[in-house]
Amino acid sequence: MEKRVQLYEGKAKKVYATDEKGLYIVSYKDDATAFNGLKKGTITGKGAINNRVSNHLMGLLEKEGLPTHLVEELNDRETVVKAVQIVPLEVIVRNIAAGSLAKRLGLEEGWKLPSTVLEFCYKRDDLGDPLVNDYHIRALGLASDEDLAQISAYSLKINAILGSYLLPLGIELVDFKLEFGKTQEGNLILADEISPDTCRFWDTKTKEKLDKDRFRRDLGGVEDAYKEILFRLMGGL
Ligand code: UDP
Repeated sequence: MEKRVQLYEGKAKKVYATDEKGLYIVSYKDDATAFNGLKKGTITGKGAINNRVSNHLMGLLEKEGLPTHLVEELNDRETVVKAVQIVPLEVIVRNIAAGSLAKRLGLEEGWKLPSTVLEFCYKRDDLGDPLVNDYHIRALGLASDEDLAQISAYSLKINAILGSYLLPLGIELVDFKLEFGKTQEGNLILADEISPDTCRFWDTKTKEKLDKDRFRRDLGGVEDAYKEILFRLMGGL
């Protein structure tokens, strides 16, 4: 497969067209940003780790019958994925209060939510990705009612699969962000990435943060935390 023109460069990834219709190549970067791009930095080795972590977790979801964009890992930081048009929503799934939810609703970080919370944010960097509900989504035409119902059902199923996979590895799935896309054939599939950049992972016993919060909050040990997640997924411990 041959890489062609670069179609897009985001904060953490580049996307390239390929010589095969319907397939893209994503390339993960070591660049890190937080607070809507206000904080910038580099996490050495992050691109390669996120590439492997995301592919591992998407492979697991595929095995459980969830459609994802994953096609084939090419090398350290590049993966062939199905070309999609991204639905302009970030789906946030929460099991434990943290981050913006804890702040917005005055909850203690670490409080186990009695039931899973789903949130949607409109993907608009210029607006800071504002929270929207299903009425906004319908009125703005961000997704059809049918697609939104499917996105919600997939997100809850992904939460159940990942949560029970990670727990025996000593990882608590606090919250995470998902993005979905539509293929040229009109199929809704999971896209983007699932990694320590997009999830909050806490050590089950010590509650130590093993994710991007170490970068956001200047906690140190960022590289080691990302390595630890990959190590546990690869059968370490
Ligand atoms: N998240 C993300 N990208 C975003 C916003 C959030 O991947 O642009 C993830 C984040 O890593 C966390 C979850 O979504 O796992 C919930 O994030 P939250 O709304 O608490 O925002 P934060 O306080 O992290 O900005």
